[in-house]
Amino acid sequence: MTVVSRRALLGGIGLGGLAAVSGGWAPFGAARAQAAGTVNLYTARHYDTDEAIYTNFTRATGIRVNRIEADADKLMERMRAEGANSPADIFIAVDAGRIWRAQEAGLLQPLRSAVLEAAIPANLREPAGHWFGLSKRVRVIAYDKARVAPADIATYASLADPKWKGKLLMRSSTNIYNQSMVGAMIAHNGEAATEAWVKAMVANFARPPRGGDTDQLRGIAAGEGEIAVVNHYYYANLAASTKPEDQALVAKVSLAFPEQGANMRGVLANITGAGIARHSPNRANAVRFLEYLATAEAQSIFAEGNNEYPIVQTARLSPVLSRFGEFREDTIDAAVFARNNEAALKLTDRAGWR
Ligand code: FE
Repeated sequence: MTVVSRRALLGGIGLGGLAAVSGGWAPFGAARAQAAGTVNLYTARHYDTDEAIYTNFTRATGIRVNRIEADADKLMERMRAEGANSPADIFIAVDAGRIWRAQEAGLLQPLRSAVLEAAIPANLREPAGHWFGLSKRVRVIAYDKARVAPADIATYASLADPKWKGKLLMRSSTNIYNQSMVGAMIAHNGEAATEAWVKAMVANFARPPRGGDTDQLRGIAAGEGEIAVVNHYYYANLAASTKPEDQALVAKVSLAFPEQGANMRGVLANITGAGIARHSPNRANAVRFLEYLATAEAQSIFAEGNNEYPIVQTARLSPVLSRFGEFREDTIDAAVFARNNEAALKLTDRAGWR
């Protein structure tokens, strides 16, 4: 099945992304005692706009939303330590690879929900219901508009072309977004071909990997390289920014959505996803909350908070994404590339991408 979702080319599009670490503790103390009226989120998201989702949900259901925001690894560590006494009802992470790890660690439980199964495409949720994609982030190629022809970066394979020697900016392979990208390549092309691709990309690196996705974009703007691989929303957030330096970057750098040719598979779509915690004390409320997140209303707010793409087609796009145009997405199962993350990390290590 082919999913053509909106957009394709780009223009210019900003929030700092998600370095993510706020340790905010909502008042959980009495959570268990008040189990009927609350739902407790452990979330790696940290966008102010999410407040509107919580407020609307509480208004509609009477269920209060408590949350802890921290990076996914810290949340998982905490859930593990809390064990059967954990107050966590829902775990939210920002890459399929991370939420897969939570599943593997036994921190999630399966859920059958006709509402979620109808709203969320099968490739963007775990087959047994351990987690569900809630918004999409695509891994795209950013380029220097003055020096690069988009036709020369039409595929992920093109990143390995020797013509880019000394011009490719990449963050570390220890980053989960890159592991998921390599995991998808392993699923499509096998390990040997993927390793050859990675080695050729490493030979093109403009400098040793460092920084986050936004740093790769800034590297292009600073002339340290001509092309980079980033999640689309880092660029979108800069494009939405009114800061002169961000606008200057957007004037110089654009995005290409790879794999858009007639017989190509489409750009890699990763997810922000959520699952029910293994020991959820408020499971019924958790199910209602997840189902609420799949409504067009909540989807619009959830996606817009970070300029991600909604999962539900009827949800509205953020203004900046509305300018990007249509594009085709790879329909690979998120569970497949997520599961390949460990193999991807070993492969990139062998290939010299650290
Ligand atoms: Fe991010």
